[in-house]
Formats: sequence, C-alpha cells, structure tokens
Amino acid sequence: MSAEPAALPGMEQPAPRLVRVLVPLPLAGPYTYAEPDDLELAPGDYVTVPLGPRHVRGVVWPDAAGGTADAEIDLKKVKPVLERLDAPRLSVEVMNFVDWVSAYTLFPQGAVLRMVMRSGSQLDPPRPQTGYLAAPRVPEGVKMTPQREKVLATVRGLNFPETPAEIARRAGVSDGVVRALADAGALEKIETDPDAPFEAPNLGRRGKTLSPEQADAADKIRRHIEAREYACTLIDGVTGSGKTEVYLEAAAAALKQDPGAQVLVMLPEIALTLPFLKRLEERFGAAPAPWHSDLGQAGRRRTWRRVADGSARLVVGARSALFLPFRNLKLIIVDEEHDPAYKQQDGVLYQARDMAILRAAHGGFPIVLASATPSLETAVNAQGGRYETVQLPSRFGGASMPDIGLIDMRENPPEKQEWLSSVLIRAVNDTLARGEQAMLFLNRRGYAPLTICRKCGERMTAPDSDTWLVEHRFSNRLVCHHTGYSIPRPDTCPHCGAHDSLAACGPGVERIAEEAARLWPEKQIAIFSSDTVMNPAAGQELLARMKDGGIDILVATQVAAKGHHFPNLTLVGVVDADLGLVGGDLRAGERTWQLLSQVIGRAGREEKPGRALLQSYQPEHPVIAGLASGDRDAFMEAERDGREMLGFPPFGRLAALVLSGENEQHVNSAARMLAAQVPHGQGIEVWGPAPAPLYRLRGSYRVRFLIKAARDVSIQNFLRAWLTDVKIHSSVRRTVDIDPYSFM
Ligand code: ADP
Repeated sequence: MSAEPAALPGMEQPAPRLVRVLVPLPLAGPYTYAEPDDLELAPGDYVTVPLGPRHVRGVVWPDAAGGTADAEIDLKKVKPVLERLDAPRLSVEVMNFVDWVSAYTLFPQGAVLRMVMRSGSQLDPPRPQTGYLAAPRVPEGVKMTPQREKVLATVRGLNFPETPAEIARRAGVSDGVVRALADAGALEKIETDPDAPFEAPNLGRRGKTLSPEQADAADKIRRHIEAREYACTLIDGVTGSGKTEVYLEAAAAALKQDPGAQVLVMLPEIALTLPFLKRLEERFGAAPAPWHSDLGQAGRRRTWRRVADGSARLVVGARSALFLPFRNLKLIIVDEEHDPAYKQQDGVLYQARDMAILRAAHGGFPIVLASATPSLETAVNAQGGRYETVQLPSRFGGASMPDIGLIDMRENPPEKQEWLSSVLIRAVNDTLARGEQAMLFLNRRGYAPLTICRKCGERMTAPDSDTWLVEHRFSNRLVCHHTGYSIPRPDTCPHCGAHDSLAACGPGVERIAEEAARLWPEKQIAIFSSDTVMNPAAGQELLARMKDGGIDILVATQVAAKGHHFPNLTLVGVVDADLGLVGGDLRAGERTWQLLSQVIGRAGREEKPGRALLQSYQPEHPVIAGLASGDRDAFMEAERDGREMLGFPPFGRLAALVLSGENEQHVNSAARMLAAQVPHGQGIEVWGPAPAPLYRLRGSYRVRFLIKAARDVSIQNFLRAWLTDVKIHSSVRRTVDIDPYSFM
C-alpha cells in the first residue's frame, strides 16, 4: 500500500502552475485553474474545465495586466484543467479582439468568446457522415410534388452534402420526403469527411480587365496590402459601377502575397450570399468558405474548423463571420458598409463594420468598405482623411443611371383601398408593353400593418407587447414583427365578438401584389420578402425566374433592394417613399436615402435605360427632393450639419441603457435609483429615464436612458462607473447598447 508522501514540516509542495481559462458564458472574466503536468498548455488552447457541477469548454487565456495575482488565489480551491481538446489554437490576435470587443461593448468577455466558440460542437472529434447533394438529373418516372420540388431546390443550392434532417429543415418538409427522393435516385448519397478542406483559390486566374478608374482604385488598395499596413479604404461608387470587381482584385492581391493569408468578405444579407458565392467561384475557380445563419450544422462546423486551421483562405459571411477563429487574417472587405444589418440587435450588441475596422487596425492589415451610399459615419471619416476614398462615379460599361420622377400623391390620389397612382400604373403598362420588367417596392412585409374591428374599434395587438399584429394572408396569420408571436387570423373580434368585422388597414407587399393582380391579371406577379422567400435556395429560385423573364412584376421589400442584377428590369415604382421617414430615429433620413437609392439602382443596369418613380405625400421633404434631384452631396451636407449641431454620431458618442423586467414597479424604481446617482462627468449628458416607445415587449416593461458624450470622452468609463455603483433589484435586466441603432 502506498500513501501520498506527506510533506515534511518546513518543506513546501511545489505550487501548481496556474492558467486562466475563459469560458463562453456571460460571467465576469477568466477563471484560474491548475495545469496538470502532462498538458503543457499555452494561451489559445481549447480545454475542458470543471465549473461548479458542470464540465465546460473554454480557452486558455493570455495573462492580462491587472489580472488576479496568483498570490491572492486560494490554492486549495483551484481545480485542475481536465483535458486539452484537439483543435488549432486560437490566435492571440483573436483573443485580443475578444477583449477589445468586450471592453468596447461592455458585454462580458465570455459572451464575446461565445460568438467565437459557437455551440462548441465543432470541437468534438469528427464523425464521418452521410450527406446528400443533387444527382446530375432526376431519373425518368420520378413523380414530382411541390414538396419534392422544394427539396430539389434546396439541394441544388448546397455546396456541401447535408444530412436528410438538415435538408428537410431547410426545405420545410419532413425527412421522409428527402429520403424518398434519395431512394428514387434524385439525390446523390455521399460519404463525407465532415471537415473536408476547401479547394484553394486559383490565383493564376485573372479577373475582368479593369477600367482605368477601377484599376486606379485597385492599385491604391494593393499598395496598403503590399505595405502590410492598416488602412481603411472606402470604395464610393454608384450601384453597378464595378466596386465588386475592384475589391476582388484586392482580395486576389492579399491571397497572393502570402501562402497562408486569409481574406474575409462581409455581406449584410444572407439572401445575397448564394449569387455572390457563385460569382467568387467563377472568379477564383473554387468555392469560398461560406458563413451565415442558414448554413447547416455540418457546413458550419466545416467552415469553422477550416478557418481555424487556416486552410479556408477566402471566407464570405454575414456579420458573425468576423468572430470566426481566423489564423492569419490579412484583409477584410465590408460590402454595403452602410447597411443597418451590420448592427447586431440581440445578444452582444455590436456594429460589425465598426468592429471590423477595429480588428484590422489592431491586426495591422487593410480593410475596404464599399457602398453607393456611404453612412454618414464613414463619409465624415473619409472627409477628415482618416479613411482613403476611391470613387467610381459612373456605371460600368456606360449604362446610365435611372431617371427619377416624383409622383405627388396629393395630386394623384389612388382609389379608395388602393395604393398605386394612375401615373405609376401607366408607367408599368408602358414597361410591360415593351416586354420589360417592373418592380413595385414597399418596405413592409405581410398584407396589412394594422387590423381593426369595424364594430368596436379594437386594434389587434400582441398580448404581451405594445405592438400591432400584422396580417399575413400568405400564411393566414396575424404576426408581431418584433417578437414573432402569431395567431391564426380570427373570424370574430376577440374583444366584442362581432363576426367578420376585422378590417385590414394600410398596405404590405401582399396587398400590393393583390392590387397588381387585379390590374394586370395576365401577368406573372411574384412577391419577394423574407416571409415568402424563406431560405437562400428559394431566393435563388425566385431570382433565376426573374432573370429568365418568368416574372413580369416583382413586388418586393428591402430584401430585393440589395445587390441583385436584373438586366430586363427597367422600372422601379416606390409605393410609399415616405414610409421610413416617420419616427424619431436619428438615422431615419439617411436610411431612407440609402434604401431608396439602392432600390432605384436596380433599374436599367444594362443597355436599356431605367426609370424610377417615387410616390410621396411630401415631395418637398429634403430626403425625397434630394433623391429626385440626385444631389447626394447636398443631402449629406445637410445631414452632417444637423448631426454636428446636436453632437450626435459621428460628432459625439451615444449609448442607450435599457432597463427591463416583468415587474413594472421594480423596473421603475431601478430607473429612479439610477437617475438619482448619475455621476458628474464633463461632456456627458444623460437623458431619461423615459418609457421606451415599445414599453411592453414579451411581457417585460422597458425604460430607457440615452447617454450622449463628446467625442473625446470615454462613454464606457462613464457607464462602468455609474453601473457598478448602483445596485438594482435582481429581477431587472440592464442592457447597454453602445452606438445604438434602434431607439425602440
Ligand atoms: P457594384 O459592385 O458597384 O454594384 P459590380 O462590380 O457588380 O458593381 O459591376 C456591375 C456589373 O458590371 C457586373 O455585371 C460586372 O460583372 C460588370 N463589370 C464591372 N466591372 C467590369 C469590368 N472591368 N469588365 C467587365 N465587366 C465588368
């Protein structure tokens, strides 16, 4: 029997080596663990550690200045690291990035690390699996049903074999439909290595021959790549000017420079990724690694692992791609940099464009922003010389910009319960008569934004939120657009019980499509919105139909505004140009400008000239008048002056503090306590507390503060000091939003 040798009096046990491990949970920071002798851990290693009764995965974190000194730690309480996981080490650069994002957004480091580590299942050992892709053709005699068509459309959009369950989920059908198609030979069964490497981009392939302006723009960016230095370059060019071709040259240059270099292209919208992936595949002879919310488990794991080991060289993704564990990131491109979708609105609240700039600046590599309508933040930085600007003022190949007309709706009112003016209807008639296509744009999903009882006047609202329920005829439901809550459309008023008394007020795209179908019964009309086109494969199918001329009139929300190129689309009719201007959002004017410019930019992208007509009840409004005259500089100047006068971003800093909870009293008393203890700070103003415009959301009551600081003041330090000093009731949630984009 052998016992542990007892330490002789006066002799110390050698102290275990300690490591700090950050776990992907919203806790304070890294915790200290003992390193078992045999592990030889280094910062960036993925490990499993005990945390209370659980075992969790985390990352060995670098020592930070000001961290807990080893001497303060009770060694008896320190638990050992359990194992090291088999995955490429997280780079110091990514770990530093997690720390900066945490310090900037005031979300805990663990919450930010969670965006890097995702579910953690990509750290499991690989398991070979069976996936399916589309067979080259559907065998003769296989009966096609609408459900089977959906499956086929889904698998045709795949670039990696997925499991039947995943295909079924994406197509919105049961597993059985997928298996039956596979048994019939319409799908090809493939045993996959779940982590199969991505094909390397072929860098010998040349891109399009650039115009002199494009070549000049590409040269400027290339210089920063060659100098291996941080620089932010804005490609400011009208829609269709060839910005993409320019930044693809930059991507090629960065990939060529260094055999391990990685490039990230960020896009705001997943509906854009599929056509874009195809375009990149053509350019580089290999499909890039994709990253977006619609990627299945298998696809996500593969991209994550291959980005981590550095073999995925070219990555295309939505905002969360910024948190992939890159090994050697050397260039970021943020396309449509002005797009509000770059702001993450739940979980860790961050602006992906801004964080991408931070990432590049700290990583010492260049970043490219592209837009036809740069955000005011970016425009001011460009004017101030902090960013370099390259301009592409005209469309590539001589296509002209669309001609823009205003329709004053006060003079051309539509019929009752209709929304298209006679001027717009005539223009659509002319367009269709020439065999061309038209788009009717309205940035409102569903059939009608408000349902009201004609008998008692009841407005249909969500039971737990201060929101109207939007009628969707497509699904025959009333839906809350803020929370997703929905009910089948009732036949009787839930308030007074009157039968058949519910009336739809106002239009959404579904209602405009109904009006169009009445006006043009012979024509093919399709709706393009996130409700009707629910996944990239379905989007792809609709876009292909539009390109092939299978659609005459596309009725669309903002999902159709971006990026798409329809050669035969020559008329864009904006049903309600004033829509985005209501509400007190500081960016309302700017956003309306950007969105409508983009929509207008869909018309006449090739030789046939395009035309846009804006229906407005306030054509003299600066945004509407500016759009019609096309004077962007004057509009931006006016916006800039307004923001400067008020000290709003980018001339000052803003943060929102939202208190929320199910107990209204607790929320309000927490707000009063915080209001009573606002620290004094030079150059800081605190507004509120005020009930949020959405006072009740998902059963929680919400109260807001808005904090405004001068540019040279750290709003984070102010908030830290304020919030650590005031103890509020534990049932009240505090959410800090640095640089808020939503004021609801
Ligand atoms: P943007 O990104 O500014 O909207 P794109 O890069 O998509 O513009 O270019 C618009 C259209 O012009 C695309 O069809 C693109 O292939 C074409 N194009 C742009 N530059 C060139 C070029 N140098 N040579 C040939 N075609 C080009």
